[in-house]
Amino acid sequence: MQRLHSVDIEHAGETLTVAYESSVQARRVALRVDPRTGHVKLVVPLRMSRTAALDFARQHAGWIAARLKRRLSPVPFADGNTIPIFDVPHRIRHQPAMRGTVWIEDGELCVAGGAEHVSRRVGDWLRTQLRARLVPLAHDKAARIERRVARIVLRDTATQWGSCAKSGAICFSLRLVFVPPEVMDYVVAHEVAHLVHHDHSARFWALAQRLTSGDVAACKAWLRAHGHSLMRYG
Ligand SMILES: [Zn+2]
Repeated sequence: MQRLHSVDIEHAGETLTVAYESSVQARRVALRVDPRTGHVKLVVPLRMSRTAALDFARQHAGWIAARLKRRLSPVPFADGNTIPIFDVPHRIRHQPAMRGTVWIEDGELCVAGGAEHVSRRVGDWLRTQLRARLVPLAHDKAARIERRVARIVLRDTATQWGSCAKSGAICFSLRLVFVPPEVMDYVVAHEVAHLVHHDHSARFWALAQRLTSGDVAACKAWLRAHGHSLMRYG
């Protein structure tokens, strides 16, 4: 059971609104800033008092404010905007007079049809591109360790690149379509390794590295450095 309220925190003349959520699952108090929406959430374990939790949030007001400032302006899927496709920048070019749907031409992402459909068409096309690359990769990696991926779900998650359920179903972030191929390869390897180890033990990391084509540490560093900026697209 979760209860959600919000509190306002004053910081350097600004008012920060923090959603307060008491959680049965949480072991420690945690602050989360959704890089896309800018919503701030304080997740509090049941045993922690509300006063202590709010003190924690107040102490971290500077951190929250910095996080919110770091948010970059949104880049919608619209004519003239540039988005990365597997880390390669592509300008979106709306071609209303053309037939077809979405195609790449001279390094541009061309979109036919009415202007009101551009965003959805680009989104659908990106999802298809990601699925085409990611699904075989996940099955190949799982086959290497004689496991099966039960199901692959693509979702627009703001905080996670992937997750693996005990059932063998793996969920990946749609935003992986923006990352370099080697980073996507690592995220897939990471989740597939969870089919064997449902933890982040040393054995898990050894397997994740074995399943990753590139260097795990470099991929993790890339996600830490650039991950939040990928939330602005779409
Ligand atoms: Zn993991």
